[in-house]
Amino acid sequence: MKKKPLVILDFDGTLAPIVSDPENARIDAENLENLQKVSKEAKVAILTGRPASFVKRQVGPKIRVLGLHGNKTDAMDQGIEGLKKRAIRLFGKNQGVVEEKPLGFALHYRNAPTLKRSLARFAKTAGKGIRVLKGRKAFEFLPASVRVKAETLESIVKRNPKRRVLFIGDDNSDLEGILRMQKYPNFTGVLVKSREVSPKGAKTISRSELFSFIENFISGNPNEEKA
Ligand SMILES: [Mg+2]
Repeated sequence: MKKKPLVILDFDGTLAPIVSDPENARIDAENLENLQKVSKEAKVAILTGRPASFVKRQVGPKIRVLGLHGNKTDAMDQGIEGLKKRAIRLFGKNQGVVEEKPLGFALHYRNAPTLKRSLARFAKTAGKGIRVLKGRKAFEFLPASVRVKAETLESIVKRNPKRRVLFIGDDNSDLEGILRMQKYPNFTGVLVKSREVSPKGAKTISRSELFSFIENFISGNPNEEKA
């Protein structure tokens, strides 16, 4: 029997719409039902920068969730703690700007557009031991020793050479993975269109096409398959 394809999906901006307070991001009932349907036809995993528990609460125990870009929580280190304290001191009074995460933190300017330049300047002060990911109206700060999504994706695809793998995401870190993985013949990567991320040659779809694209991929429709 042919191996089931593997479908890897980002959460925010892909399965769930972007909302002004990240804590309120939810997958809607229709997408949840679609996701459960797809999980019968393919292996499904959600790959997200969030803690896995945030997504698991919404999608249930049967869907595999790789949180924190595929890292374990023990990668938190000293350098990032200091930078986080400084971020809280500088921006903590602005609601919804600082998001503390198990591995590091994020600074959002979705609700505070006037802070965009100060946050960008702050991001430049991060030392060598810290990785800065530019997100959709956000900067994410992680210890340099942790994996980014592109690295997690690559290790998954390498472990599944005989399986067709589809990955869909919306952010710069997803795009980095999509572009890096194009050299693998069993990999298809697609970016969910947004005003905030330039696709740089990657195939794009709108969020409303998400599950019809996945269904076509699973059934092996050649027009949809080659991104
Ligand atoms: Mg996303």
